[in-house]
Amino acid sequence: LPPAGELLGRFPLTANPEPADDETFRRCMDTLAFGTSFTDHMVRATWTPAEGWHGHRTEAFAPLTLSPAAAVLHYAQEVFEGLKAYRHADGSVWTFRPGFNAARLNASARRLALPELPEQDFVASLAALLAADSRWVPSRPGSSLYLRPFMIATEAFLGVRPAHEIEYLVIASPVGPYFPHGFEPVSIWVSESFHRAGAGGMGAAKTGGNYAASLLPQQEAAEKGFAQVCFLDATTNTALEELGGMNVFVVDDDGGLRTPSLTGTILEGGTRGAIIELLRDAGRDVREEVIQLEDLRAQIRAGTVKEMFACGTAAVITPIGRLAGADWDAIVDDGTPGEVTTSLYGELTDIQYGRRPDPHDWMYRL
Ligand code: PMP
Repeated sequence: LPPAGELLGRFPLTANPEPADDETFRRCMDTLAFGTSFTDHMVRATWTPAEGWHGHRTEAFAPLTLSPAAAVLHYAQEVFEGLKAYRHADGSVWTFRPGFNAARLNASARRLALPELPEQDFVASLAALLAADSRWVPSRPGSSLYLRPFMIATEAFLGVRPAHEIEYLVIASPVGPYFPHGFEPVSIWVSESFHRAGAGGMGAAKTGGNYAASLLPQQEAAEKGFAQVCFLDATTNTALEELGGMNVFVVDDDGGLRTPSLTGTILEGGTRGAIIELLRDAGRDVREEVIQLEDLRAQIRAGTVKEMFACGTAAVITPIGRLAGADWDAIVDDGTPGEVTTSLYGELTDIQYGRRPDPHDWMYRL
C-alpha cells in the first residue's frame, strides 16, 4: 500500500460541516460508549453499471436520503467491515491490517453480488475520514476510533436482482476499552437449536443478514445469563463454528492451539489470522481443524483443555470461562483467564498501540 498521504484527495472534502460543539464533543470523548456517537464527517462513493465508482467525496455526517423502495431495505443486499484507528503515544494515528479488511469487504461483496471496491480506494476512504476527523481518535488507554465501512443497494426497485445503484460509505465512532474493569472471562451458550449460517449460504461474508439471524439466539442466551452464543455447523449440528461476532480458540495442555477451520460458513477474522501468525512466530503448534463439541466437552471434563478464548476487532481477545448448552455446563479449567490468552492479548494490543515492534507490517499510518 502507498503511504496514506499519497491517497489523500481521492475522496475530496465537499462540505465543511459545523463541527460538534465543544460540550457534545467532550461528552462523547468522556463516555466512549460503543457505537453511540459519530464523528463530524462521512466518506462516500456511488456505483452504477454505466459509470462504475464515481462521486468519491467526504461530507458531513448526516441522515441518508433513501427511497423506501431501496433494495437494501427489502432484500438486505449489503456488506460491511469493522476496524479501528489507534492513537500512539507520539500522537500519530494507525490502523491494523487495512488490506485484510479491504480484501474481506470484496470477498463479501462478491457473495452479495455487489461491486468490488479497489483496495487503494478502501484505504483512501479511511485516510480521508481520518484527515477530516482526527480529533475524534481518543487517547485514553485502550480506546480507539471504530471505523465502519459499508456498501448498500440504494436502487429504488422491488424486483429481486442485484441492484444497479450502490452506495459505499464510511462512518466512525469513538470507543473506549472493551474491558473497563480488566480482563473478564465470559460465559458462552452453545446453541443447538439455531444456526447463523448454512453450507452454501453467507456465513463467510460480513453481511447484515448473518447478524439478524444471530439476534434471537443471542437474546435467549442473555436471558439465561450468558454473554454470547457459540454456533454449531448447520449440517451436523456437532462442530463448533464461531460466536455471533468473534472467532474461537482452544488451548490444550500440550501447549498446542486449535481453531475451527474456515469451512465457508465462518467469517475469517483478521484477529484470528494475526493470532495464528503470532503463535507460529513463537514456534507454537496451531491447528485449523474441525472441533467436535462432544470431544471438546470430554476434554474439558478430563482437564486437558487449559484455556479457551474468543477474538475479534472489538474486544481483541475475550477469555471464555464457561461453556454450556441445553443439558450440560462446563467450566474451562478453573474459569480464570489463562496464560496464553493473557499474553496474546498483551502482545496484540502492544502492536496495535505501537508499544512493541510490528514484525509483519500490520500497522498502517493514517
Ligand atoms: N466472526 C464474526 C461473525 C464477526 O462479526 C467478527 C467481527 N468482524 C469476527 C468473527 C472477527 O473478525 P475480526 O477479527 O476481523 O474483527
